[in-house]
Amino acid sequence: MERVFLLLGSNLGDSRQTLSRAVQAIDQSIGNVVAQSPLYQSSAWGLESQPDFLNQAVLINTTLPAASLLDQIKELERQLGRTDTVHWGPRIIDIDILLYGEQIIQTDRLTVPHAQLTVRRFALQPLNDLAATMVHPVHRLTIRQLLDVCQDQGVVVRLAE
Ligand code: AMP
Repeated sequence: MERVFLLLGSNLGDSRQTLSRAVQAIDQSIGNVVAQSPLYQSSAWGLESQPDFLNQAVLINTTLPAASLLDQIKELERQLGRTDTVHWGPRIIDIDILLYGEQIIQTDRLTVPHAQLTVRRFALQPLNDLAATMVHPVHRLTIRQLLDVCQDQGVVVRLAE
């Protein structure tokens, strides 16, 4: 069983509802949802002329190997209505694997810890709510330390429950 942190994001359609449906589906078919961060509203990163994103980090326990987990995530994104989108463009749902236990994984399809985790405030901020003291297996700093030194100027606002 691995403790896996996922980041959910959405900036098309009813994002609140999509994230809630995603968490339910993850719990049912991918791994037990152990904890959820609050929702955050984040200015778009990369391609900036698009609506703000809602983001949420989720901790699951799963027995799925990382490659199968990625397959299931991609399938769930399709079920929730995601179609092929512009790279870094608007999307109904995006699910990234931030951390897979303490494992370091580098394959054609997968980089874990997520390659951009440390430069994205919208990922570090919700992850910090769930795993502030967890040590990043590559950088050897805690998530809170990584958030403290993060240079990303993007605005990440915690939403009321
Ligand atoms: P995305 O545009 O975020 O849906 O991701 C596009 C591709 O990134 C996926 O199809 C994966 O093959 C690849 N990828 C690499 N590392 C990761 C990761 N840590 N989590 C999710 N996708 C990843």
